[in-house]
Amino acid sequence: MSGGDNLDFEIRPNPAPVGDADRSALLTNPGFGKIFTDHMVTIRYAEGKGWYEPRVEARAPIPMDPAAAVLHYAQEIFEGLKAYTLPDGGVAMFRPDANATRFAQSAQRMAMPSLPVDTFIESLHQMIKIDRSWIPPSEDGSLYLRPFAYASEVFLGVRPAMEYLYLVIASPAGAYFSGGVKPVTVWVTPDYTRAAPGGTGAAKCGGNYAAGLSAQAEAIEHGCDQVVYLDAVERKYIDELGGMNIIFVMDDGSLVTPPLTGTILPGITRDSVLKLAERAGRKVEERPVSIDEWREGARSGRIRETFACGTAAVITPIGTVRSTEGEFTVADGGSGEVTMGLREELTAIQRGRAEDPFGWVHRVL
Ligand SMILES: *Cc1c(COP(=O)(O)O)cnc(C)c1O
Repeated sequence: MSGGDNLDFEIRPNPAPVGDADRSALLTNPGFGKIFTDHMVTIRYAEGKGWYEPRVEARAPIPMDPAAAVLHYAQEIFEGLKAYTLPDGGVAMFRPDANATRFAQSAQRMAMPSLPVDTFIESLHQMIKIDRSWIPPSEDGSLYLRPFAYASEVFLGVRPAMEYLYLVIASPAGAYFSGGVKPVTVWVTPDYTRAAPGGTGAAKCGGNYAAGLSAQAEAIEHGCDQVVYLDAVERKYIDELGGMNIIFVMDDGSLVTPPLTGTILPGITRDSVLKLAERAGRKVEERPVSIDEWREGARSGRIRETFACGTAAVITPIGTVRSTEGEFTVADGGSGEVTMGLREELTAIQRGRAEDPFGWVHRVL
């Protein structure tokens, strides 16, 4: 089955779901990515057969052959998005169509079959419907959805696999920042790059993250929270963080961000922030920003604020930048006004507390 046809999901409810009292206890302080719901979605793929056996079933370990291709050559892609409770008690996702499209683009880059957009969205509906009781009741809680796919074929040759498994798991998430949003300190790595032209930087694949772990460890060794990557060719221009895009707020109120030239992951949060800013009359420029421009701009006041953005943390102010050349702060190193304003505006739309001018909120229930 390919094209746009919707598959019919077979529902096999978990015979032993977590009890109400235990679930409530887990949801009081879920943290991030530590707790999982009762179910998962699975859809299989075989060359010549297409996507088949779409199921909602009890979340459980997946049997895997030691020669499964993904374990050797890392043919794997994923997505991440959130479901929220709306003020009227309904449930919505934020821009799932954008995640579906990006998932298909990541698949293409990794020589994997792409899941039709409407099957991807339907799989998320199924997860939310069956596990909606796992959305934390707190005001800043959400249900983090993790769709992913990998090469399951048992084969050690190097070529695109002929069998794949697509899954969705879900994890209740609390406030990303316990105790409020705090500016982070970032490390500009002199040793590592994230993505080179022609590489996989624009694909959301697990391999990019595996390759970034040493750089993140280096950042932590230098007392920083996150790593910032420079471009792989000139080692001069800011690309992004390990899992978040970067945006600069200039002294005239405009936003500047590195362009999507293939080495940067096209973030949906990034895109949403740029659209909201433009709509509010701010100038938005997508152009390269060098580390020298950042340092000099922070010193002169030309760059007033800098923030990182992505689904998990939404918007995170960057207060301090550390590198082998020393350290500088952006303004006073605190959380900027424009940054915090955009954060509030975006989260209000996502949670149905503000008007949704772009039709981004996708109601499920
Ligand atoms: C997922 C991701 C982002 C953020 O994308 P969103 O769609 O905003 O969540 C940014 N950079 C990298 C490397 C990512 O993997």
